[in-house]
Amino acid sequence: MPHPFLRRTWFAATDWVWPRACLLCEARMTDPAAVCLCPTCVTALTTDSHLTCPRCSSTVGPHTDTSAGCPRCRDEVVRFDSATRLGVYDGRLREAVLRIKQVAGDALAEALGTIFALKLRQKWEKDGPQVVIPVPLHWRRRLTRGYNQAESVARGIATELRLPLVTRAVRRVRPTPKQTAVTATERRRNVAGAFLPTTLAAVKGLRVLLVDDVLTTGATADAAAAAVRTAGAAQVHVAVLAHR
Ligand SMILES: [Zn+2]
Ligand SMILES: [Zn+2]
Repeated sequence: MPHPFLRRTWFAATDWVWPRACLLCEARMTDPAAVCLCPTCVTALTTDSHLTCPRCSSTVGPHTDTSAGCPRCRDEVVRFDSATRLGVYDGRLREAVLRIKQVAGDALAEALGTIFALKLRQKWEKDGPQVVIPVPLHWRRRLTRGYNQAESVARGIATELRLPLVTRAVRRVRPTPKQTAVTATERRRNVAGAFLPTTLAAVKGLRVLLVDDVLTTGATADAAAAAVRTAGAAQVHVAVLAHR
């Protein structure tokens, strides 16, 4: 056991290098774990007690037949092959998603990506995604926010799953208006043609994991997925932190 003074100094020094506080609730952390989230937050963020539709990630009842989608997506054309969520847009996950939309939320966004990766890893025994792509922000919104939160989430996922992160396969060519008070049809109209493929080589023939923070009607993910397909992707699987 080192001298108490040395011990204290050592802890003070490492605390300065590694501030052991949870990025979400600021609880003190005694164990400098891989993600800067406390065990209580990790449990709350990763516990999704509902069954979900494999096609659109909506909550479904225990007896719902989801072989061709759920009542919410069955009649919709979706241009992605599957959708996985970390959880419902509620409670601590909602708080986290709101936090990463702010300036300097990137460390939290990446930490959320890391814990999401653990769930995603269990989804595919084989033939899982080969490349990770974030849903791009329009440059104007990126400029005001300082970063693309979906890209930081995607980086956390890609690092944990040891997959390449491709950020320039698709481009958002026009900003989409705030999507909160519009109908599903209006949302689709708002995002139609908002994304364009840019590089073909990065995704051609590959299974892509397309990452975003929130999925509401799926219109944005669908429009982005269409662009990724045009860029030559063989499959597009959507991963969202929170489903509204
Ligand atoms: Zn916490
Ligand atoms: Zn569905």
